[in-house]
Amino acid sequence: LRHGRIVMGPEVAELETALARQCGNAFAVAVDSGSSALYLALRCLDLGPGDEVITTPLSWVATFNAIAATRALPVAVDIGDDLNMDPAAIEAAITPNTRAIVAVHYAGLVCDMAPIMDTAARHGLDVVEDAAQAFSAHRDGSPAGSFSRLAALSMNPMKVFSAYGEAGAVVCDEEALYDRLTMLRYAGTVNREECREISLNHKPDTIQASMLLVVLRHLEDKVEQRRKIARYYDGELGSLVACPGEPQGARHVYYDYIIQCDRRDDLKCFLESRGIEVKIHHETLIPDQPAYENLPAQDLPAARRATERILSLPCHEAMRDDEAEYVAAAVRNFFVF
Ligand SMILES: *Cc1c(COP(=O)(O)O)cnc(C)c1O
Repeated sequence: LRHGRIVMGPEVAELETALARQCGNAFAVAVDSGSSALYLALRCLDLGPGDEVITTPLSWVATFNAIAATRALPVAVDIGDDLNMDPAAIEAAITPNTRAIVAVHYAGLVCDMAPIMDTAARHGLDVVEDAAQAFSAHRDGSPAGSFSRLAALSMNPMKVFSAYGEAGAVVCDEEALYDRLTMLRYAGTVNREECREISLNHKPDTIQASMLLVVLRHLEDKVEQRRKIARYYDGELGSLVACPGEPQGARHVYYDYIIQCDRRDDLKCFLESRGIEVKIHHETLIPDQPAYENLPAQDLPAARRATERILSLPCHEAMRDDEAEYVAAAVRNFFVF
């Protein structure tokens, strides 16, 4: 506030350096939201009408919306038991019009990226990670955001790494992409004067960058707290419901702790009656949203089944041990009696 550079101040550059380092990239471009980040990342691929982009049907709607905003067609493929896009399903969805894959690291678990990158390379497709829910998660020794050509981060107040308002960033390794992104976030201009591309205003607030630099110092503690609760739930509930678990070589950050079970709706009511806040992320697959009623119908049996079985249990850094014990006891009660 004292230096008076309210938008794009020096803290933004400092944050970008920190984000790039954490995501294993050369560059980061901070923007005003995760949605903007994903949209601008996709803009760099020069997509347009007739192009197809493969992604998951189970995500926040912003994933599809960012693709659709480029005027490309979002194509959903089915998911695996880990709730992430099934790498094997991608191959079957590729057509001569397929241009890119958006890999969403759902709930904070990085997708199994090796087969996804391999498929993309064989078919000459670009990959963009939607790492909005997975900042600081790892897979096979590499951080979320480091696998693809461009990756989008969100730091909205709901995320594990969260600002005190809206914020996002794109990370990448290529300088040409960095230059283009900095232009796209500022109305497509260079030197504030010459407009080279049609774009809107996606600049970040300095105050959010400033807050995030502080939040970043406490991020590891936050993630470890979530992971501790997750380990506790895994141990207490693993014999009753399908717990998220952690694949070999993955470090989950538990943006959501999602169990899967039969009688999900009854369990939800039971837990709510005991004062426990539970959520379904998400009950409607994105291609089933009214906005996408004109999309060609897709057969997504595993994703449809998941929407009837998933439930997010409370799992966050402000939770006390006795609260986690209360939740686990309530879930056990439901199944035992
Ligand atoms: C939060 C989120 C976004 C969008 O981020 P905003 O900052 O809310 O615009 C995009 N994709 C996924 C998977 C998200 O969870």
